[in-house]
Amino acid sequence: MPELPEVETVVRGLRNLITGRTVSRVTQCAPPSSIVVSPAFGRRTFEAILRGRTIRSITRRGKNILIALSGDITLWAHLKMTGRFLHLDQSVPLDKHDLVSFDFASNGSDSSLHVRFNDYRRFGRLRVYPDHELWQQDGLRDLGPEPLEITAEEFVELCHRRSRQIKAALLDQSFLAGLGNIYADESLYYSRIHPKRLTGSISRKKLLELHGHIQYLLRLSIDSMGTSVNTYSGVNGKPGSFQSYLKAYNREGEPCERCGKGLTREKIGSRSAHYCRHCQRER
Ligand SMILES: [Zn+2]
Repeated sequence: MPELPEVETVVRGLRNLITGRTVSRVTQCAPPSSIVVSPAFGRRTFEAILRGRTIRSITRRGKNILIALSGDITLWAHLKMTGRFLHLDQSVPLDKHDLVSFDFASNGSDSSLHVRFNDYRRFGRLRVYPDHELWQQDGLRDLGPEPLEITAEEFVELCHRRSRQIKAALLDQSFLAGLGNIYADESLYYSRIHPKRLTGSISRKKLLELHGHIQYLLRLSIDSMGTSVNTYSGVNGKPGSFQSYLKAYNREGEPCERCGKGLTREKIGSRSAHYCRHCQRER
């Protein structure tokens, strides 16, 4: 699943491409299960609501993409497992997983632009809401702090406030917004913290270290345009390159770079955790 660095890469790609442009056409190419329209729009369709509006700004909150449009509405996109925005030539034949296509009118001397939302697993969502309703929605109103904005002291306080397994906490979007399995496993590996350790039992020193590693890894991955282990790519269709830096995630059985022993993959909660049972001790 795309996590903070991958979503940030998509946001930057879209921002450079379509900010200031006007939506000239929206075409739904597949059944509309991926689309949610606020009841505030009455019977107007997704296409009709967006057509003619100008892109004001594109931002990220956690793993959510927020495309603000003229007329005080927002197109809120979540990529979930395999959602992608792709800038393509209009002549490229439709793929069966292209769910929606967008055309953006020319901007000065540039020609029009064509972007498709493609989603193989179809868990991704495109939602449209008036701005005044947006932050009341589940999935946005309950988001925790941004991992690149929270200070080290705030992070320690957050972890010590309520004791729970650190891996589960890092994946919980209401605890911290933007991490998923990749960056949770990697930052715990770097910090030598066992994924089952209880947050309340981890020392302040270790948590400061973890905070530093989370920010370091996220920044490094954004610079590498994210991690491509499955279908993820940027808006330009190019994969990220952070997968070559991974030390624990998806490397079960391979030797740990620190101790040489085999890395473990274990189901913790409902998710797989990748870690070194020798360097990351449970107690
Ligand atoms: Zn090790």
